[in-house]
Amino acid sequence: MTRTILILPGDGIGPEIVAEAAKVLECLRQEQGLDVTLEYGRLGGSAVDELGAPYPEPTRQQARRADAILLGAVGGPKWDALERPLRPESGLLAMRGELGLFANLRPVQHYPSLSAASALKPELVAGLDLLIVRELNGDVYFGQPRGIRTLANGEREGFNTMAYRESEVERIAHVAFKAARLRHRKLCSVDKANALETSELWREVVTQVAQDYPDVALSHLYVDNAAMQLIRAPKQFDVIVTGNLFGDILSDCAAMLTGSIGLLPSASLAANGKGLYEPIHGSAPDLAGQGVANPLAAILSAALLLRHTLNTPDQAERIERAVGRVLDKGLRTMDIMAPGMIPVGTQAMGDAVAAALED
Ligand code: NAD
Repeated sequence: MTRTILILPGDGIGPEIVAEAAKVLECLRQEQGLDVTLEYGRLGGSAVDELGAPYPEPTRQQARRADAILLGAVGGPKWDALERPLRPESGLLAMRGELGLFANLRPVQHYPSLSAASALKPELVAGLDLLIVRELNGDVYFGQPRGIRTLANGEREGFNTMAYRESEVERIAHVAFKAARLRHRKLCSVDKANALETSELWREVVTQVAQDYPDVALSHLYVDNAAMQLIRAPKQFDVIVTGNLFGDILSDCAAMLTGSIGLLPSASLAANGKGLYEPIHGSAPDLAGQGVANPLAAILSAALLLRHTLNTPDQAERIERAVGRVLDKGLRTMDIMAPGMIPVGTQAMGDAVAAALED
């Protein structure tokens, strides 16, 4: 059965990097018989410009129909002054919410040939392989009430609500325990239970869910300590499960262990198997239009799509091996450049990965 992949290039460097991921998928379609149709749509600032809304109705319908979605990134200074519902990021949040994409998987893997690109000493990151499972449909990003109000004394106050229901914590905990079972059976839950009631409940529920997974070793860390441990000794972690806000921050932090935010893919999964796949980075307006952005996070996001929604792990591994080979050959975009390596732009990196698929 032919599966439909909706491609949403988005804004900034989004179209440039997604074109390379699409190139790789197209190669697999033509040469390896991958049975997919690629369809294109608009999300974010480009959708505001062309269709008047960041998540316009045609995109909504495409997203509902598609088996999986591949996104570049949205946002940029051009749209920052718009009222919040019209901002590109609101479109992305609305799509995640409507499609029930509650489980965000962020694998963090270290490529041996990139030791020099990591912000940490090579011995701290060599062999690093961790998975961050971030809850994506709750927390301060969705909690109500929220807003900016004027107090009696005339001063303005910004406020958001951090909230998690038991059922929300349970379902993300199950995803994380199951993922840990397929890895090294170690799960660390990250919260701020010493200061926040939301986290107190989070910890209680995760501990209850652990009873269903006696073969997985569960530990807990406060988020401030977790941030420190990620830098001090990242290899102690196997799977980390955490809420939306803490996961957002910790995964950017973890990106620097690998060498660049331009290397990290993510999968956001719904209970029905539908998935949105995107790099963890944003639209990098500072690089847009220059052809220098690293497309590997987008290409590796396509690999996650093949693994988690299309259930074609062989094809996913084919992409991941190709990325490893290209890095071993010394090809580097500027964010991971090191002395003696071969500098390449976005397109040349994509071409090299596509060519390495056949090796
Ligand atoms: P960013 O991730 O876009 O950029 C942070 C830094 O990383 C920049 O120096 C950038 O040049 C670099 N970088 C990012 N991707 C790269 C790549 N592929 N190759 C090389 N270098 C790369 O974060 P930001 O600057 O905070 O945000 C820019 C815009 O992106 C904002 O409008 C923000 O709201 C939006 N954003 C969108 C998403 C998303 O679409 N999921 C996520 C984060 C930020």
